[in-house]
Formats: sequence, structure tokens, C-alpha cells
Amino acid sequence: METNFDCIVIGAGPAGLSAALNLRQRGKTVLVVHSGETLLAKAEQVDNYLGMPGLSGKQMMERFTQHARDAGAVLRKGRAGNVMPFGGRFMVNLDGDILETGAVVLACGVSKAKPVPGEAELLGRGVSYCATCDGMLYRGRAVAVWGLSPEAPQEANFLHGIGCSVTYIAGRRPDTLEAGVAFRAGRVEAVEGGAAVEAVRVGGAALPVQGVFILRAATPPDALVPGLALENGFVKTDAAMRTNIPGLFAAGDMTGKPLQVANAVGDGLVAALAAVDYLDGVSPMTD
Ligand SMILES: Cc1cc2nc3c(=O)[nH]c(=O)nc-3n(C[C@H](O)[C@H](O)[C@H](O)COP(=O)(O)OP(=O)(O)OC[C@H]3O[C@@H](n4cnc5c(N)ncnc54)[C@H](O)[C@@H]3O)c2cc1C
Repeated sequence: METNFDCIVIGAGPAGLSAALNLRQRGKTVLVVHSGETLLAKAEQVDNYLGMPGLSGKQMMERFTQHARDAGAVLRKGRAGNVMPFGGRFMVNLDGDILETGAVVLACGVSKAKPVPGEAELLGRGVSYCATCDGMLYRGRAVAVWGLSPEAPQEANFLHGIGCSVTYIAGRRPDTLEAGVAFRAGRVEAVEGGAAVEAVRVGGAALPVQGVFILRAATPPDALVPGLALENGFVKTDAAMRTNIPGLFAAGDMTGKPLQVANAVGDGLVAALAAVDYLDGVSPMTD
């Protein structure tokens, strides 16, 4: 697969696909990575998007996806584990593959979850959000997978396959979980440890582990990009959807209210235009 793209867009919801379409229309090559279904696919009917009344969220997403594909955007399923700026360019860790690109648009949707106690403190020291990115570090060790996204059982099976001793934590045991993966009903209430993770607390009891993979549908933005500035839990952007990191743009629900399709699509356009200027070396206009 082609790995050299002018821009990588993370997220294939309305914001990410709008950014991808508009980058393509200005001649840039684009990879859109997405870890699963968007929120919109869950909407029974969307009646407030101009010109398309009566469509289900799924039908709307099919149209958006087809439009971006027809324009030449390349879509790839996978989870972006982290985005590392270097010298004005970026490295994106996609399921363990490192892709280099000139600009990044974050369009990951909203992460509604509040971090559990110990999660932020032990991030990168046993707490991870991406099994395929970080799994190899835990080969031969005991790890917990807190399954909060539809793809979590697959990621737990992957960890089991590479030799981790895995306990899957969720409300019920998923049918697709391999027999060798242990199961604990409940939720992670806290992550415990000193220099590194030592245990997770489930149902009030400590489960000793050296790593915990917290697999939510959306990754907290500042976990994805270290040093990313937030405001009230949303990614802070200026009017051109620029973040505090040059070359990194954000769009859609992750940048704040209104959490609506029309806003996400508009943000995607603005982020794409700013990304094109960045890639072309045009100095940013003052807002
Ligand atoms: C039940 C329901 C009904 C709704 N009804 C309406 C409505 O009627 N009208 C309306 O305007 N809005 C509605 N909304 C809101 C609308 O769905 C959102 O505002 C819109 O989807 C936001 O788009 P987005 O592109 O910002 O994020 P999302 O659509 O959430 O897309 C996020 C994308 O990022 C990807 N992603 C996240 N983290 C990663 C990662 N680490 N690596 C790779 N990919 C990642 C996800 O897989 C997904 O593709 C509804 C929402 C819900 C849940």
C-alpha cells in the first residue's frame, strides 16, 4: 500500500471526510484512517443537514464516504496510536506502522469518557490506548484490556496471539474473544502503581497487571498528540482550525460545540484549506 501522503486525516466521520474531499480538490494526496463506525451511523434519522432530509445516519455516512473515495481519498481501517511532530512534519503510528506525512488533520470525534483515577498519571508507563501499537512491549506479561469499543475483542485476541496473558474486562464476555483470554465482568475503577502500572481495580478488587489497554471508541486527544492544547476538554483551535502545533489541524466534534454534522463538515473544509496553505508554505493569515 502507498505510504507517502501529503496529509493524513485521522477519523472518517463527517469532519474527516470533508477535510479529505477538500484536500483532494486542491490536489493533495490524503490518507484517512479510521478505527470504526462513526457516531453518526447510530442516528436513526438526520433531518437538520441541509438538502438531505430523511436519510438515516448510516445512509448519510455511505454518501459522505463514497464522495471522498470518488475524489481519490484513500481510506484505511486502523487505530492511530500517536502523532509525533518532528521538524514541521509528522510521524503517525498506525497500528504499529509508522507513516510520515507533511500535515495532519485530527477528526476523531468526541471522547465523552472521563479518565479513571491513575489513568493520566500512568499513561505511557503501563496505560495504553492502542494494543497493536504498544502490544509488543508487554509480550510475556499480564495485561488487562478494558473493552469499550466494538474492535476491543480483536485487539485483546491480538495481544493474546503475541504472548501476553490477557484479562478482558467488560459488562459481558464478547462471543469473538478467543478461549485463552480470561474474562472479568465489570469496569476498571482505577489504575494503580508507582513508577509503572501494578494493578487495575475491578469490582473493588485489585487485579495485578503490568499493562492496561483502555480501548474506548475515541482516544483522548492529548493522549494521541503529546503537548496538544485543550480547552474545556476539547482541542483548542483558532478560526482556521489550527491547533497549537504547526501543521496539525483539528475539526468536528473534538473541537467543541455544536456537536452536529453541519458544523463538522464546515470545520473539515476550513481545516483542509489551512492544511493546504501549510503544505504550500503560505504564511498564515491573521484571524
Ligand atoms: C445517536 C446519535 C444521533 C445523532 N443525530 C444527529 C442529527 O440528527 N443531526 C446532527 O447534526 N448530528 C447528530 N449527531 C451528532 C453527529 O453524529 C456528530 O456531530 C458527528 O458525527 C461528528 O462528526 P466527527 O467527524 O467530528 O466525528 P465522528 O463522526 O465521531 O467520527 C470520528 C471518527 O474518528 C475515528 N477515530 C477516533 N479515534 C481514532 C483513532 N485513534 N484512530 C483512528 N480513527 C479514530 C472514528 O473511527 C470515526 O471514524 C448524532 C449523534 C448520535 C450519537
